[in-house]
Amino acid sequence: MTALSSNDAWMQRSLRSVWHPCTQMQHHETVPLIPVSHGRGVWLYDQQGQRYFDAISSWWVNLFGHANPRINAALKDQLDQLEHAMLAGFTHEPVVKLSEKLSSLTQGHLGHCFYASDGASAVEIALKMSFHAWRNADLTHKQEFVCLQGSYHGETLGALAVTDVAIFKDAYGPLLRQTHVVMSPDARQALPGETAQDVARRAAKALEDLIVAREGKIAAFIVEPLVQCATGMAMHEPLYLQLVREMCDRHQVHFIADEIAVGCGRTGSFFACEQAGIWPDFLCLSKGISGGYLPLSLVMTRDSIYQAFYDTDVRRGFLHSHSYTGNPLACRAALATLQIFEEDDVLVKNQARAQALSDALAPLGDDERVTQVRQRGMIWACDVQLPADKAATFSRQFFTTGLQHELLLRPIGTTLYLMPPYVLDDEHIAFLGERVQTVLKDVLQGGKA
Ligand SMILES: *Cc1c(COP(=O)(O)O)cnc(C)c1O
Repeated sequence: MTALSSNDAWMQRSLRSVWHPCTQMQHHETVPLIPVSHGRGVWLYDQQGQRYFDAISSWWVNLFGHANPRINAALKDQLDQLEHAMLAGFTHEPVVKLSEKLSSLTQGHLGHCFYASDGASAVEIALKMSFHAWRNADLTHKQEFVCLQGSYHGETLGALAVTDVAIFKDAYGPLLRQTHVVMSPDARQALPGETAQDVARRAAKALEDLIVAREGKIAAFIVEPLVQCATGMAMHEPLYLQLVREMCDRHQVHFIADEIAVGCGRTGSFFACEQAGIWPDFLCLSKGISGGYLPLSLVMTRDSIYQAFYDTDVRRGFLHSHSYTGNPLACRAALATLQIFEEDDVLVKNQARAQALSDALAPLGDDERVTQVRQRGMIWACDVQLPADKAATFSRQFFTTGLQHELLLRPIGTTLYLMPPYVLDDEHIAFLGERVQTVLKDVLQGGKA
């Protein structure tokens, strides 16, 4: 017997002391746990020096590669100025500059930013703000929320209440507020002869029917604009967002855009809503906003909603806080991230990257089991048709086989997707095209995973 490799040693120590997220820990009896030693650009390296292409941006957070020199430099500078100060009664340059910058990216439509640390908290904040804004307007019956089929908005109790993913919802259902779930505009539901726009109209009608039936009771509708990511990269037409925006105005319902995954350039525009030419009442950001460096989330809102809380009475003010609200290091990482967008003309360059990625992955479609190939900006996805027994293990098999080919990908069920960082060059793209095909072939052949 050889001595334990350092990977094995760290894996065993981790399994003895760390409870990993969203994981049936027993699976690690057969699925490896990779101890990451360091990251550079698109690559993560384990303790033995083996590398993995981070093609899902470490759960969709990393935008400009690991150990990005510009973000590192900004953080080192910030570290010597101010690591943290409370944001009640105090303010600081990074949080002010970030709020100004983000507001300017909405051309001032969303004038104020409220901060938290994780995505789920941003969703909770948007829900509470919506309810409270209506209460301050004496519309106290507006207490109900609406979300889409297959929606995912986080896993704390309030966010989970507007999430429609069976595995999460079933387990904790008794703890949750009732929420209305309406038809998703997922374009894959097109009936014969129907276009994606027809699906969008059909879904919008379902929402309006509900709003009418519950007239005066709905506080807000929450949606991930353009791509419902966690349910398996379900994509819809911008038309849906336009129809919903008009409807929300007609019926006095707030429109919450959860751009935690789709914001920060992921779908091609900085905010996904821009492609529909609309602005929501609340916009949640997290994940990519700090470049994937530090926990940071925020809710942007209209100044008219901000004004609904502006009063001498404390109880009419927004009653919410987190200890690390507006953390200066996280805000500084976000500022450095936004600066890269500007300096490198990232949104324009990503158009070419997205096209090249699409070309490199096109041969996958030659296999008739690969269906619904789709893309929106820097999200590429397809569905793999498999018999039930193979479908159940596809994701884990692909993940494990991928690692053997230096590829980090975690399919969602039978949806295979890429969400790479925005630093892909031609070589990276060729690598992805080749390895994704190799791994898929291996897994489909029931290969030697
Ligand atoms: C990840 C995600 C969240 C939750 O963010 P956390 O930081 O994991 O709490 C909420 N909404 C969407 C759309 C997400 O992708």
